[in-house]
Formats: sequence, C-alpha cells, structure tokens
Amino acid sequence: MVTPRDLSSHTVYRAGRGIEEVARELDMDPDDLIKLASNENPFGPSPKAVEAVQAAAEWMHSYPKASHTDLVAKLAARWNVADEQVWLAPSGDVALDYLARAFIEPGDRVLVPTPGFAYYPMSARYHHGEVAEYRIEKDGGFAQTPETVLDSYDGERIVYLTTPHNPTGSEMALEDIETVAEETGEDTLVVVDEAYGEFTDAPSAVELVESRDDVAVLRTFSKAYGLAGVRLGYALVPEEWGDAYARINTPFSVSELACRAGIAALDDDDHVEQTVETARWAREYVAEHANAPVWDSGGNFVLVEVGDGEGVFEAMKNEGVIVRDCSSFGLSECIRITCGTREQTKTAVATLNEVLES
Ligand SMILES: *Cc1c(COP(=O)(O)O)cnc(C)c1O
Repeated sequence: MVTPRDLSSHTVYRAGRGIEEVARELDMDPDDLIKLASNENPFGPSPKAVEAVQAAAEWMHSYPKASHTDLVAKLAARWNVADEQVWLAPSGDVALDYLARAFIEPGDRVLVPTPGFAYYPMSARYHHGEVAEYRIEKDGGFAQTPETVLDSYDGERIVYLTTPHNPTGSEMALEDIETVAEETGEDTLVVVDEAYGEFTDAPSAVELVESRDDVAVLRTFSKAYGLAGVRLGYALVPEEWGDAYARINTPFSVSELACRAGIAALDDDDHVEQTVETARWAREYVAEHANAPVWDSGGNFVLVEVGDGEGVFEAMKNEGVIVRDCSSFGLSECIRITCGTREQTKTAVATLNEVLES
C-alpha cells in the first residue's frame, strides 16, 4: 500500500471560527454576527482593491507576469530595497515556506516561540526540519528580550521572532532583534515576522535587512490591508542571497487577482489609516472597559485573561460575538479579541463583561 511519509509529528492548523460556520451552527444570519476571531480587517478590503480585482477578472485566462513584476517593483520602492529582495508569495504563510525551502536541509532545527504562531513549526516540518521552542513567559508579561530567545538557542538554522507578537501583542525592540542576530551563529537566519507591523509605532526591522545578511522580514496583506481572502504576502531578504527566490518559488503562485489587489491597496492610504487608527482606539477601549486583565498590544488584537477561555468563547458566541479561544496557543485562560470597528468593539466588550458577570 502506498502511504504518505510519517506525518505523526505534524500538527493541524486550527484557524479562528469562520462566520458562515458559526451562523449555520447557531441558525443565525451571518450579518448579525460580529467576528473578531482572526485579526481580519473590520472595514473589509480597500475599495480600490475591490475595483482592481473586478477589472482584473477579464485577464484570468493569462498567467500573472506584468502584475507580479509591477507589485514587486512597488514594494521594493516602498521599502527602498532592490526588486530581488522582495520575495512575493501567495500569503505570509507561503513566504515562510519559501524561506524554509531556501534554508532548511533535512534534519536542520528551527527555534520557534511558544506561545506563538502555529505555522512556523508546521512550515519547518513540511521542509524536513525539526523544531525547538523558546518560551515567552506570561509571568514576565510576555516580554520579549534577547535572553528570552538566546537562553534556548542552540545553533538552530532559523530563529523566528514575532513583533508585534500573536497572540500576546508584545513587541521586541529593534536593538534587541539586532542582538539576537548578532549573538546567533553565522549560519542562523533570523526571521522577523511583522504581520502586524502597520499597527505599531516601532520601526520595521527592514533596516537590519539592509545592514546585515542574516535577517529577513515577513509582511502580509491579510491584516491592515484587508486582503486575507486573496492570499498575498512577502518576505524582504538581504541583497546577498535575494536571487535564490528564482530557484525556490513556485511559478505563478501569486495570482493575477492578488497582484492587482495588492497594487491597488498600496495606493489606498485612507483605508490603511482608518484601519490602524481604529485598531489603536480599540486596544485602548478594551483595556479600559473590559472587566478583566488585558495585555498591552502593538497589533490589531488584544489578549484578555478571562479564566475559562473556552467557556467565555462559547458564551460570547451564543450572543453573536466570535472571539478567539486561545487553548490552541496553550493559553486556555485567555481569549484574543480582534480590534473591530468602534461599534463592534463596544458590543464585544459589553458582551464580554456580561458573560464574565454571569
Ligand atoms: C496572520 C499572520 C501571518 C500571515 O498570514 P497570511 O494570511 O498567511 O499572510 C503571519 N504571521 C502571523 C503571526 C500572523 O498572525
């Protein structure tokens, strides 16, 4: 019998619950639900991106070529890097795969944060890598210092940093990221995941991509740009090895529609500004009004300690507010609430407080 290779150490990605899924289960209209579970953009996509995708529908029969080139050039100009340094991918997750594909030899180890983003270990294992963990301690307020990482470092091939960190919202200072890069071995790549980079005031680690050859930065259009459904992301990599992309990327993996959406979204400053401003307001609002401890967050979400995370998740869901139960992150006493519109956020906090009271 033919069977897949041994996948027993592989885990299954557990996404936040979809709105249609919950609506069906509760027999409710999806429009009556507030979904704050997956850090999506509460304002939807940029209207300019919607228009661009509608227009691009006419070209669906041809492979994406010019649009890929144009989007890469636009991103390169924005970050002040060469075109080869932009590794465009059909999602941030796949950009992580491209880095793993380019770096990991069978048996190489990577170092991932726990709690942390589930896809780092998954991606490493797909590429025949092995996984070690460093802990981000709740006792320490989930602070990320160089020691947090370096105390567990043992020559791994890739070290993943997340700032702002999902699901805690904590951040790592640029100088601390540089210390990690400096103190890790010559063959170690430091991947700085900035999926939530638009929501923080902290500078991007892209300046380390410029000054060093061992740091790559990950970015996505899924969060601030509201394009989670088209799947679009990229890595920014050092010039020294940027040309490896041509040897590892899956041809035409970023669709014509995604490229066109990305190009348009990058020109829609109003949409991003509204998104970021509202997220900052919402973080403050939840921290101030929730009757539960809330950690400081640099992202478009906050982590809240509620005691019985799953119970609170269920009770809020029954009231039409879907948040993220954090047991898959090993934080069963917490929920993560995505920043909604002002109205959604107020409803979510009111619902949370009611649930906590009963
Ligand atoms: C959302 C997210 C990503 C990437 O998401 P894609 O939708 O695959 O682009 C990467 N890292 C973290 C920490 C995220 O939360």
